[in-house]
Amino acid sequence: MLKKAYLLFVGVLMALLLAACSGDSEAEGGKKDGEKLKVVTTYSILYDMVKNVGGDKVEVHSMVKIGANPHEYDPLPEDVKKTADADAVFYNGLNLEAGNSWFEKLLGTTGKDGEDAPVFRLSEGVDPKYLTTKGKEGEEDPHAWLDIANGIKYVENIRDGLIEADPDNKETYEKNAEEYISKLEKLHEEAKTSFSKIPKEDRFLITSEGAFKYFSAAYDIQSGYIWEINAENQGTPDQVRQVVDLIREKDVKVLFLETSIDARSMETVSRETGIPIGGKVFTDSIGAPGEDGDSYIKMMEWNINTIREQLEKHSK
Ligand SMILES: [Zn+2]
Repeated sequence: MLKKAYLLFVGVLMALLLAACSGDSEAEGGKKDGEKLKVVTTYSILYDMVKNVGGDKVEVHSMVKIGANPHEYDPLPEDVKKTADADAVFYNGLNLEAGNSWFEKLLGTTGKDGEDAPVFRLSEGVDPKYLTTKGKEGEEDPHAWLDIANGIKYVENIRDGLIEADPDNKETYEKNAEEYISKLEKLHEEAKTSFSKIPKEDRFLITSEGAFKYFSAAYDIQSGYIWEINAENQGTPDQVRQVVDLIREKDVKVLFLETSIDARSMETVSRETGIPIGGKVFTDSIGAPGEDGDSYIKMMEWNINTIREQLEKHSK
């Protein structure tokens, strides 16, 4: 606790120092010609979307690193500095960046919590789904991006946010967003068609975290999980027993593991049921550069293909 308070204090101090140093060089009301728009995102999926819409007009920093968990995070001095200096900040909302209130605190620390701050909630306009775990009922489920139709809403919100922060490059942002959205629309339709060919009773997706509510609804696949959302209690004996019961009841034939989650709980479930883990899927992070799923489109393609192939292979 003390260590955290100290780190936060150091962070504030650094932010103040940096603000004082960069004061003169910053042009009033925006950036100079040829200078890139400085953008900060909370995690890697938004980072990739912003790069697609912003192209070479933006310089993007993702606070939560690839492969890490965005539900809880301790901002580093670098994150504090970049957020304080940012021309635009993008976050998910829907309770994603809520663990330890890390993001809310960061906005306060960096003075980005005011009415006019260029901070954009990308889930704006999404129809939220809610948690069902006892004690968490009524809390929003953050994983809206796993339905590509929602991903498109995020992209539209990014486009509008970038235009607001940098109206000079409006046309570029509009053109990039349009091209990107047409690719996403195509993938969304392909996903619906390919899953519809699998018998309905075989369409069942078991993962560690219950991140697939939006995905399930969009592509008509039932889903189950060990724990509903990344939080303190993950993979308790009770949770394992419940998912084992569900797997037996529904006669599920294959399990999936997320790239950004410890494998041990799902391995326990696999051992107890004798059901194999068919593959990995991406939920809260894209893949490392040059590896599988290293962009939002590629991670969604990977998920769609992996889930379809495994469900087909284990079809009853
Ligand atoms: Zn998650």
